[in-house]
Order: sequence, then structure tokens, then C-alpha cells
Amino acid sequence: MKVEYSAKLKKLPPYLFVEIDRKKKAAIERGVDIISLGVGDPDQPTPDHIVRAGQEALMKGTNHQYPFGTGLKKYRAAVAQWYDSRFGVSLDADTEVCALIGSKEGIGHFHLAFINPGDVVLIPEPGYPVYATGTIFTDGVPYFMPLLEKNNFLPDFSAIPEDILKKAKVMFINYPNNPTAATADAGFFETVIAVAKKYNIIVAHDAAYSEIYYDKKPISFLSVAGAKEVGVEFHSLSKTYNMTGWRIGWACGNADIIKGLATVKENFDSGVFQAIQEAGIAALTGPQDCVEQMRGLYKQRRDTLVDGLNGIGWTVRKPSATFYVWAKVPAGYTSSAVVGKLLDEAGIVCTPGNGLGTSGEGFVRFALTVDVPRIKEALKRIEKIKW
Ligand SMILES: *Cc1c(COP(=O)(O)O)cnc(C)c1O
Repeated sequence: MKVEYSAKLKKLPPYLFVEIDRKKKAAIERGVDIISLGVGDPDQPTPDHIVRAGQEALMKGTNHQYPFGTGLKKYRAAVAQWYDSRFGVSLDADTEVCALIGSKEGIGHFHLAFINPGDVVLIPEPGYPVYATGTIFTDGVPYFMPLLEKNNFLPDFSAIPEDILKKAKVMFINYPNNPTAATADAGFFETVIAVAKKYNIIVAHDAAYSEIYYDKKPISFLSVAGAKEVGVEFHSLSKTYNMTGWRIGWACGNADIIKGLATVKENFDSGVFQAIQEAGIAALTGPQDCVEQMRGLYKQRRDTLVDGLNGIGWTVRKPSATFYVWAKVPAGYTSSAVVGKLLDEAGIVCTPGNGLGTSGEGFVRFALTVDVPRIKEALKRIEKIKW
């Protein structure tokens, strides 16, 4: 039988990180000692007290059935409590919080609740690929908002044509930002809210990196007046508690928007495994010194890599949040050429900026997911490359 894939599936670009992983594995097979600064997946294990809570919850038979619904009441309450203490924003745990099987799942399904064919979706680029994938799957029309250095990697709404704004149904934003590591302040969120209200656009703020910061604590979109009227925020336990493999996060904010997402989800999945929700409760309500330690670890790595690169002729800004370094490539090279050279001549895997959007051309993204000695080794190897 000839298997014919759907037009939508054929329209998708290959998932970037799967491609990078394939190249990395091929190099390892050739015997190369690879230093992987590619995919943003924490190298440290989930803190013990969270794993233990998960183990105990796994032993309870009542957790082995379909979870159904928007999450355990206890989980949603833990989210609301954490949110209030971290951001000073109160959430109704019953109507304004929905557990997710990782925020990627929620972001991917979000479009199904709101997008009709032809609706415009405003998407930051370079950016997390899922915003555009969900748009393609719903026959929406992606409109890419470039994140440029001259605008501090914030979208410039005045550059978006009026007719696009009128047709826009959903806007994604993401701060602290992957891949540029930029942060946003209340003033920017106020502008977003004004645009959303004027053109009736649903705002989806992806806050997966809200806890990976080195200077000022990032604020929540929902902490700005009027935000809850127009939008929701996506959160993840993946980066904050080194839980990428567990698959748990949540969406919170506007009750009508949450209801739309929850309706899609109840038709497609049957909820988050309750044992994992219990581990999530332990993460959110337990001691937070593990998060502080993690920030310290990434900070050391950030300083080693950024100072090191700047010391050998690169020009790299020190990020104030996320575990990414968004580095301008040496003059005269494209992102892809630099990624190729780093892999072939130094055994270093990193992400080409243009793979995450055309405005990422001229940059590569390094993830700070290896230890300081390996970063020092990477620097030694980069220094030997002839440009
Ligand atoms: C890692 C990441 C996520 C989500 O991760 P999940 O593991 O699915 O919760 C979401 N957005 C961005 C920008 C990310 O980098």
C-alpha cells in the first residue's frame, strides 16, 4: 500500500531538533566526542523530593485510572498558590487553570479551540516551532513578527499592517524568550494588551522560562492590568524542576479561553497521569532551594561561555534569563555555515538561528546544558577554528 500523508503533514518543516539530533547521533557513530549545546533539555536530574513524591503516588492504585478533566483539584490549587506567591496574581483554581501534558501539548492544541481557516495567527520569529505548527494544522495563516536586536527582540506592532491585525485571532508571545534570551517588562505587556483589545486578539504568553533568571525576576503577563481579559499564560515544570521527561505544565488565565482549550483536550486526551500531577504538587509546594541552586549552576555556565566567547573574538550579550546564549556568528558566515563548522571542526552541536525563523539568520543558539569543564573544552576547540 502506498501511504499518502495529509497535505498539512506534508506542509510541516522537519522538526528542527529531530534533525539536529540525527546529525549528532551520526557524528557520535563516527567516533566524535560531541559536546551538545543544541536542544534545550536540562542535564540535571529532577530533585529527589519530587521523584520520591512521584514514586509514592505511583504506588497508589487510585492514581492508575483515567485522570480526566482539567487536573486534580489539589494540583490546580497548588498552581494557584504558587502563582499568587510568585507573581501576586490570584487565579480561580476551578475555572482559570488547566493541567497540561507539558506546555508543548497545550500550545499545540490551543489553535484547535480558536482558529478557523484563514484566521491569522501572530507568531514571534525566531521562535519555538509549535506556535506555527498548530497554525498549519488548523489552516490558519501564520504572520511572523520578527524579533530584532534593534528592538531588544520584542515584536514591533507598528510594523504589522492594519489588515493583518484585523484578521488576527491569536497572538503568541514568549518571555523570557527562547531563543533570543530577551525579557519583557510591564510596559511591553501593556502594549500587547492595548493591541489585543483594539483588534480583539487572544494573547497566549509562553512563560516556560519564568524561573530561569539571573538578575530581575521576570513578571507574569497576567500581573499587568487587563491581561486576564485578553489572554492566558502557559507554564511548564520542565525547565524549572528539570522535569522535561515527565510531561507536565499548565495554562492559566481567562476562564473562557481556558474552557476552549480544556474542551479540545477532553476530546483528545484524558488528562495528566495523576501520579505525575502529585509529583508536580510536590515541586510547586515543596522547598524551592533546588531552583535557586539550578539558577546558580546556569549562571556559572553562562559566565564561562559568554566571557570565553567574548575573549576569543565573538560578540555575545550576557543573557539575563533562560539557559540560552544567543550568539552573533563571526562576520561573513551564515548560521548554518557556523553550525556546520562547529560540528565538523570542533564536535560541538548548537542550533542555527535561522532554523527558528528567518530573523535568526546571523545567530546561533547555545544551550547551557553541559557542565563548566565541558564548556571550557568547547571554548578551547572553538578557539582553534580558523575563520
Ligand atoms: C521547553 C519549552 C516549552 C515547553 O516545554 P514542555 O516540556 O512541553 O512543558 C515551551 N515553550 C518554550 C519556548 C520552550 O523552550
